[in-house]
Amino acid sequence: MCNVNPAIEVPEPGSSELRADAEIVVVGSGAGGATAAAVLAAAGLDVLCLEEGNLHPTAQNSTDVPEMMGRLMRDAGLTTITGPRQTLIPYLEGRCVGGTTVINGGMCWRTPERVLADWQARGLDQLSAENLAPIFQEVEAVISARRQDPGSEGGNSLLFQRGAERLGWRYRRNQRNQIHCVGTNDCVTGCPTGAKQSTVETWIPRFLAAGGRLLSGARVDRITIGPDGRAAGVTGRAYPAAGRRRRLRVKARTVVLAGGAIQTPLLLLRNRIGRRNGHIGRHFTIHPNAKVGALFPQVIDPLHGTHQAFQITEFTGEGILLAPGALPLPLVAMTHSTFGPRLAAELRHWRHLALGGVLVEDHGEGRISLLPGGIPRVRYGITPQDQVQFARAVAKLAELYFAAGATQVYPPFHALPALRGVDEIAKIFAIRPRVADTEYFTAHLMGTCRMAANACDGVVRPDGEMWDLPGLYLADASVMPGPIGVNPQVTIMALAHLIAQQIAAKGA
Ligand SMILES: Cc1cc2nc3c(=O)[nH]c(=O)nc-3n(C[C@H](O)[C@H](O)[C@H](O)COP(=O)(O)OP(=O)(O)OC[C@H]3O[C@@H](n4cnc5c(N)ncnc54)[C@H](O)[C@@H]3O)c2cc1C
Ligand code: SF4
Repeated sequence: MCNVNPAIEVPEPGSSELRADAEIVVVGSGAGGATAAAVLAAAGLDVLCLEEGNLHPTAQNSTDVPEMMGRLMRDAGLTTITGPRQTLIPYLEGRCVGGTTVINGGMCWRTPERVLADWQARGLDQLSAENLAPIFQEVEAVISARRQDPGSEGGNSLLFQRGAERLGWRYRRNQRNQIHCVGTNDCVTGCPTGAKQSTVETWIPRFLAAGGRLLSGARVDRITIGPDGRAAGVTGRAYPAAGRRRRLRVKARTVVLAGGAIQTPLLLLRNRIGRRNGHIGRHFTIHPNAKVGALFPQVIDPLHGTHQAFQITEFTGEGILLAPGALPLPLVAMTHSTFGPRLAAELRHWRHLALGGVLVEDHGEGRISLLPGGIPRVRYGITPQDQVQFARAVAKLAELYFAAGATQVYPPFHALPALRGVDEIAKIFAIRPRVADTEYFTAHLMGTCRMAANACDGVVRPDGEMWDLPGLYLADASVMPGPIGVNPQVTIMALAHLIAQQIAAKGA
């Protein structure tokens, strides 16, 4: 894979502009962009994929967390959602070839059938379980969604499994997109072994093998519109690994945006595209999560073993997911609910500390917008209803850890730093934890340019084309019609696949 592909032309000596023509230009190479690009190239179309971040080969991945965050993440991962009463929810976006799939945990879930039934009821007939089944199958095959090799789970996940079995709760061994993962537990900062099958290992090689062209270090700023009122290409800036920064101009019959649930609406807003469409940047859902720690008398060594080998399925019908989720130590410190000397004291016992998380299907809706000067604003408020669900979910995870033999459990609530036994779980409900006193995090951003059966309800048509601009398609987490309550990468890839098939059927 090269940085500046030979098919990108520098027209005249000394020119500061890179130019290219393509039938289709795809912006972004994450879950949605790489899938769409590969499907379009396989259909015989001439596709150019532009990615703002750089390519970071697996061999260069290290376990230096701040270094890897700076290399792979937008704003080095120091990004937060703001909510009412100064609440802050940190989130992460990948900014590299492969996008957020390079820094994700690798869990693979199909969209739950109850969610697909709801989308169909909203007029999105093509999103039926039957129609999507062969696409899910292909996606899972391409990304190698499979169970972990035995022995790679690690103490953190095995203790979690023990708690679930003692309580008789249903759980499943996770399908993860990995081949022989050895459980180094670095998924969030870039897999150092190449086991994780991000799009860099899957859709992108397929795309290139089918004749697709990829330009990394290429940030798109403008969508160009032709005299016929259709999208006609993009312009932006290229930052080649070697050489100077250049302007970039690509002419294309079709533009596919896949910058993710935050960058895609921001790009549309900056371009003032769809100004009359009231849905751009709205309906933002975040599938929030919160971490729960548990102290065990025995050594667990949580840094060995895969990120999440199991998930509790007992409560998924209620929109609650419980999962083990060990992280590199600097990230454990970031997500813990205590600070200063107390945090230092707790982390002194890190070899005995299990870490898990609760995820709740959310009912709030946030908004991505632009402040004066073009500064992005990412807003979301946890609803009172979801806050109650969080308290329930944390209580359940505490119960699981005590059943597994924990001596202390650390909830994500500042007002209740530790529980010392199963009898203390009721304190969670007694304190009624406030949103502002809860340590949240989110990794699942979606829905900001949702797909809808008519122009009054959303931003894109059922085939992914914008209601407001012909020739401009979206194919990433932004088009998700609503929250799904499970990890989203397989859903995003399936939607992007479906959208790409429909573009290909029209011949671009
Ligand atoms: C820590 C973490 C753990 C996660 N774990 C899981 C998991 O276990 N399972 C799961 O299913 N999901 C998981 N996810 C979520 C999942 O990875 C994302 O939902 C998914 O990758 C989003 O796909 P996307 O195509 O919308 O955007 P992305 O994958 O983020 O790709 C967008 C790409 O577009 C590029 N881009 C943006 N703007 C521009 C521009 N103007 N010009 C050029 N390029 C641009 C970006 O640099 C980026 O590479 C996790 C996420 C995180 C952060
Ligand atoms: S646990 Fe380690 S080896 Fe396995 S996928 Fe994650 S980073 Fe790669």
